[in-house]
Amino acid sequence: MPIDFDDREEFAEQEQEEERLLARTLTSADDSEGSLRPRFLREYVGQEKLKDNLTIWIEAAKLRREPLDHVLLYGPPGLGKTTLAGVIANEMGVNIRITSGPAIEKAGDLAALLTNLDDMDILFVDEIHRLNRAVEEVLYPAMEDCALDIILGKGPAARSIRVDLRKFTLIGATTRAGQITAPLRDRFGMVTRLDLYTPEELTRIVTRSAGILNVEIQPDGAAEIAARSRGTPRIANRILKRVRDYAQVRADGIITRAVADEALRRLDVDHIGLDAVDRRMLEAIIRNFGGGPVGLDTLAANIGEEAITIEDVYEPYLMQLGFLARTPRGRCVTERAYRHMDIPLSIDNGQLTMDN
Ligand code: ADP
Repeated sequence: MPIDFDDREEFAEQEQEEERLLARTLTSADDSEGSLRPRFLREYVGQEKLKDNLTIWIEAAKLRREPLDHVLLYGPPGLGKTTLAGVIANEMGVNIRITSGPAIEKAGDLAALLTNLDDMDILFVDEIHRLNRAVEEVLYPAMEDCALDIILGKGPAARSIRVDLRKFTLIGATTRAGQITAPLRDRFGMVTRLDLYTPEELTRIVTRSAGILNVEIQPDGAAEIAARSRGTPRIANRILKRVRDYAQVRADGIITRAVADEALRRLDVDHIGLDAVDRRMLEAIIRNFGGGPVGLDTLAANIGEEAITIEDVYEPYLMQLGFLARTPRGRCVTERAYRHMDIPLSIDNGQLTMDN
């Protein structure tokens, strides 16, 4: 659908709004995260297959002096999608502009962003599944032909003009690939999933971050933090900072395994990384719903969390641990979860039930 600009004045106003749209930049997005973000592929830990492919795609694009094809990254929050977009920009030697789906309210917002990109720049749109329909339709010709279709005036006098854009790369990120419309997904040249990190990879991330934060950490201290970070670098870095606080105040500033363990116990994070909400959720399914199946919304209401948070933040790790299964009829806990929660169970007609 072409964009309908009433007049030039509105267009100018929209340009001013660009500030609002680009509220986030890579370094100011979260100051406490900024310094820990890897800047180049060689510093970016894990996701080996994706990095291998990216290395080839980036080199090929550079050889041809063309922008990288549009990239869609998906996976749970905190796995490094924004970081990777910044890394791609650095490797390509281009600028990156960061915005998010909900910030782009109108077609004109997107037009303002796109017309302000320099040649080969990257536009990063976080939460791209939240773009509205009208905005999405402006994106199609932009992604395909580097062009915007703009309607000037109204009624019979209206005329449509096509504005050429500079070549750019769109990097979209989403926690919910399933909610991206097919026409949008099809316009990305690469669609890649980020996986939860292994404890070894997280140990490397924690060790690297400790170096940047200038805190002394022993290998088993780093491994302890890694094992309790739910496969997620953002959580690993956050825990590292809290453990550092504890080490400075209650120990001699050095993070050992014992120091990490004590600090994490105080944070209510158990030895495999489950926090109070994970445990509340498992316990609710077991005690209130006989181990499941229970529908997501019912479960959310029962434990007082948003369904979206359960799906995006809690479930991926519980499923990776094999504690939770999604079935067509709802969520079920597994025998492993009973064991972890230390709740005895008996098997009744093939169904897991609690032993009273
Ligand atoms: P997302 O955009 O997927 O929510 P971010 O890119 O904001 O996640 O990453 C969160 C934090 O985790 C970053 O500040 C960064 O320090 C760290 N991080 C993420 N991925 C990696 C990685 N592969 N190697 C090292 N640190 C990482």
